[in-house]
Amino acid sequence: AGAARRLLSVLREIADEVGPRAGAVGRVADYIPALSGVDPAAFGFAVAGVDGEVLGVGDWEVPFSIQSVSKVFSLALALAGGDSLWARVGREPSGNPFNSLVQLEHEDGIPRNPFINAGALVVTDRLLTLTGDARGAVLELLRAESGNPAIDFDAGVARSEAARGDRNAALAHFMASYGNLENPVEQVLEHYFWQCSIAMSCRDLAAAGLFLARHGLRGDGSRLLDRSAAKRINSIMLTCGAYDAAGEFAFRVGLPGKSGVGGGILAVVPGRCTLCVWSPALDRHGNSVAGVDALDRFTTLTGLSVF
Ligand code: GLU
Repeated sequence: AGAARRLLSVLREIADEVGPRAGAVGRVADYIPALSGVDPAAFGFAVAGVDGEVLGVGDWEVPFSIQSVSKVFSLALALAGGDSLWARVGREPSGNPFNSLVQLEHEDGIPRNPFINAGALVVTDRLLTLTGDARGAVLELLRAESGNPAIDFDAGVARSEAARGDRNAALAHFMASYGNLENPVEQVLEHYFWQCSIAMSCRDLAAAGLFLARHGLRGDGSRLLDRSAAKRINSIMLTCGAYDAAGEFAFRVGLPGKSGVGGGILAVVPGRCTLCVWSPALDRHGNSVAGVDALDRFTTLTGLSVF
């Protein structure tokens, strides 16, 4: 049997243990109304084997707002266009909140890494230059790799992000003042907000992330990224994927992972499988409480980590 089938009983065990506690600790993101209305007790967990089989437990087929998990996919597409991105964004963990402005001034408008908001805006800008339609390119990749053409943007979420987008606008303008954006600020922000608004399930997100477990190969066998670029994305997920609690995430889980304020986390066991867990109640850093618990239990029970 494939990896997903062999691991399903572990997911069931974790869902029985962690699922009932979902929502008891932490708070649902409330900076926009569209996110604050989500049930804090929701819990879904999916595993996708490198053979493409996807199985899961709980609310694993319920769509949620992927938010910052989208940054993995925009980064992959930007790197598929070549290495030049690395002149414009670093790869050090920030130790500051995801929307922090302070480090940008010290580092001449070069964001610390592609997963803090400033870095993700540079990635979206690069993708906009490469494709002319950054948000469309991200959506197309997610649809193709998950095999679900129904995945879409959530216009309500995208518009609310824009309405409360002052901080992201400040980051973008600041970087533009250093010449680190190629496209108009308004256009970059628009594509970034829409890419964050995409709604999809654990099932679809686990499937869509499989190219990271397959060292860069897409579901149809074609190559999205060379091995080295796939390794680099996994490395950055490990060191920078869980906001300013990335160290704690690596300590507890030991896998490359990327979380979003919608409560989703995508994690990768290279060569083996991807995992996607969703539970909307967040800790103070913005990571899903039950989600991190579930992944911690997963690597403890299975011994499957990158270490
Ligand atoms: N759209 C959110 C923002 O930029 C993303 C938050 C997140 O998931 O980190 O504020």
